[in-house]
Amino acid sequence: LATDDPILYRARVAGDALALSEIATGRQLTYAALDARIARCAGLLSAMLGVGRDGARVAMLARNSIDSIVLAFACQRAGAIYVPLNWRLSAAELRPILADCAPALLVHDEEFSAAVESLAEVDPEMMVIWTGSDPGGLAARIEASLAVKPLPVDADQPCVLLYTSGTTGHPKGVVITRRNAFFAAINFSFVGEIGPGSVALCDLPFFHTIGLIAVARTTLMLGGTLVISDRFTPARTLAALADRQRAITHYFAVPQIALALRGDPAYSAAALSGLHALFVGGAPLTQALIESYLGDGVALVNGYGMSEAGTVLHVPIDRRAVRDNPGSVGLPAPLLDIRIVGEDGRDVGEGEIGELWLRGPAVTPGYWNKPEETAAAFADGWYRTGDLGRREVNGFYRIVDRLKDMYISGGENVYPAEVEAALAGHPDILDVAVLGIPDIKWGECGIAYIVLRPGAAVTGEAIAGHCAARLAAFKHPARILFVETIPRTASGKVQKHVLRQLHSDETL
Ligand code: ATP
Ligand code: MG
Repeated sequence: LATDDPILYRARVAGDALALSEIATGRQLTYAALDARIARCAGLLSAMLGVGRDGARVAMLARNSIDSIVLAFACQRAGAIYVPLNWRLSAAELRPILADCAPALLVHDEEFSAAVESLAEVDPEMMVIWTGSDPGGLAARIEASLAVKPLPVDADQPCVLLYTSGTTGHPKGVVITRRNAFFAAINFSFVGEIGPGSVALCDLPFFHTIGLIAVARTTLMLGGTLVISDRFTPARTLAALADRQRAITHYFAVPQIALALRGDPAYSAAALSGLHALFVGGAPLTQALIESYLGDGVALVNGYGMSEAGTVLHVPIDRRAVRDNPGSVGLPAPLLDIRIVGEDGRDVGEGEIGELWLRGPAVTPGYWNKPEETAAAFADGWYRTGDLGRREVNGFYRIVDRLKDMYISGGENVYPAEVEAALAGHPDILDVAVLGIPDIKWGECGIAYIVLRPGAAVTGEAIAGHCAARLAAFKHPARILFVETIPRTASGKVQKHVLRQLHSDETL
């Protein structure tokens, strides 16, 4: 790569174009102004850290803002690694992450000062500055710094460390090299049909790949405008989408946000009519939600991806494709090789279920500080996603479940996601999680955790009857437990390992 710095390039070719706009403050930056600010921020980092290309980590505990974007790209220019931290985590959850990445510098919003105080104990050497406007704050330091020129590109150099959601265990630090970031953005530019006229609203946090790479980096690389929101509320997002002056063309959501938006009293299909597409991904999406948006004329595009590879699969932006392929996550992004591999390590046949393996320039070289996990996650240069899927005759893919969550009952494979989808169709069920636990008779059997809708009084027998009408007997959960809530990650994914711990000494 001669230059992989999207801002540098855009500042040269169209410096007056609007790059960033903050909803909360009204602040805006053109590409030329953003480039100048990043150059100074890179100067600040070089001065503070003495970074050349030694890959010092710069962690950030902050809500989405122009500062986040400036710091992320300044790290890349200064040879440092940007580590956006999940501010939804508690200080106790952040501690091991901080100990793992050992940042030389931590930049934080005032809002997170209390957490930062306790985190600073992890490493007394770590420098800490905040994003406030006082003389010691980030803005004043950037103003006082000299701009530096970008270093020559080393495509294998890490520029971002993204921690996974922690759905199946502790979050792992995914190393994103400059090549990975560049090609992940190229991939998403095709998927999202993004260009200089695109205006993307981002209220998904910049600490996950969707926000930081797919939305932010892609939009800036292609010369569009990134509208930054520091929090999701249905009212704010709906108002932004309805604002014809802002002319937002692209919006990205996780399923829980898409659901909250659609169910909000302020929702109107007209507010979303300016969207080229509504992108949803990151977790399983219910068919009912897809159809409710389709019914409104909104092109809802389901996509599948992960911290380790960015966008992997996506439904084409075409209402017919969405309508004709219910439950599908679509076609591969252009720069990815995908295999579906069976237990014997061979590719499975069409329509058969296997693990998705990936290869391509957007795929991470591995996990930070975790040689064993890295070795386990790769085979012959392919990244093993840990997700089960299958390819249909028309080339469209489906995600079946996580490999870790599949269980075998009486010799038959059961995919909890399928059982959950059947249960979720019951009108009295608000939330559900199914997992397999050891069983003397069947080897393993299912247990269903069910949260009922307020006021509902359905019995376990009635739910068993609901399953009997929809699922083969070996898929019926052997036990049904009514609970108040189901443990989820900060981004709303069910943490089955937490549920599983409840049953660690139990055999039915
Ligand atoms: P951890 O790796 O720490 O257990 P995680 O896998 O949830 O957490 P992410 O990288 O944020 O961390 O999420 C990627 C995973 O999310 C995928 O591997 C897949 O299991 C799931 N996923 C993403 N998109 C979809 C989708 N459209 N449908 C179903 N599952 C999805
Ligand atoms: Mg994962």
